[in-house]
Amino acid sequence: MQGQALLWRRGGRRVVLVPTMGALHAGHESLLRRARHLAGQGGVVVASIFVNPLQFNNAHDLACYPRPTKSDRAVCQGAGVDVLFMPGTGAMRKADASTWVEETALAAGMEGAARPGHFRGVTTVVAQLLNLVLPDVAVFGEKDYQQAAVVRRMVRDLHFPVRLVVAPTVREPSGLAMSSRNAHLSAAERSRASALVRALQAARKAARSAAGVSGGGLSRLKRRLVAQMGQDARAQVEYLEFFDPQTLKPVRRLVRGARAAVAARVGRTRLIDNVGL
Ligand code: AMP
Repeated sequence: MQGQALLWRRGGRRVVLVPTMGALHAGHESLLRRARHLAGQGGVVVASIFVNPLQFNNAHDLACYPRPTKSDRAVCQGAGVDVLFMPGTGAMRKADASTWVEETALAAGMEGAARPGHFRGVTTVVAQLLNLVLPDVAVFGEKDYQQAAVVRRMVRDLHFPVRLVVAPTVREPSGLAMSSRNAHLSAAERSRASALVRALQAARKAARSAAGVSGGGLSRLKRRLVAQMGQDARAQVEYLEFFDPQTLKPVRRLVRGARAAVAARVGRTRLIDNVGL
């Protein structure tokens, strides 16, 4: 992959990478189309599919992660991908590998707190993919807002010569954010799960009120939304966070421009989502 990437670079061809874990859906497809547009006519679009063991903190979750290779190939072809890069686990990381890439500030809260070691796994593998594919541009999804922020910080801090583009979240008609994990939801769970985004939208409405929400009002709003998600989605909420989009630290006052993120289990499936307020 790296030899080929060097040839493209020397030939002056723009390379655009979309890293994924496969089980491609319309959300991924929009990233691939964006990449096709960014690469232009003479450019090269590389999609990578690598179910990264380093970012799973649960062996069952890793083992059950969907791997529909045939339909993934078809999605890539349909979206104008030039190269589908599917490295094997052994090729990506030798058994005695002992080097990690770790971002320590933005990765601390939310997903980082709920899934210890997750972002260290993400940044280590994304750094590898950037070194292997040597892209001019890499496209990530806003669906994983914290991930995009952590990768952006890593790219800045380690001077990776790549530009990041973050594309908006693609949703089902119900509002549910598309996710490879939605495949694990039963039909009933799927329709209940849209209550998660409805709660985030309610937070947006509250943030738009003239003075915003602060202090006790913010705690009450949070409790109300968590209860609403518990009831309507029958979700077990891991966290509901209102945070600053730059620092990812919790905000004390809910105002326009803040973001809201949620992680919750619906049945046995863990879902995450976030919106701008
Ligand atoms: P994954 O395969 O889940 O690791 O996701 C690969 C990339 O696709 C990440 O940058 C995700 O943020 C992005 N992505 C996943 N779901 C969506 C979605 N519903 N809309 C837009 N991008 C998404």
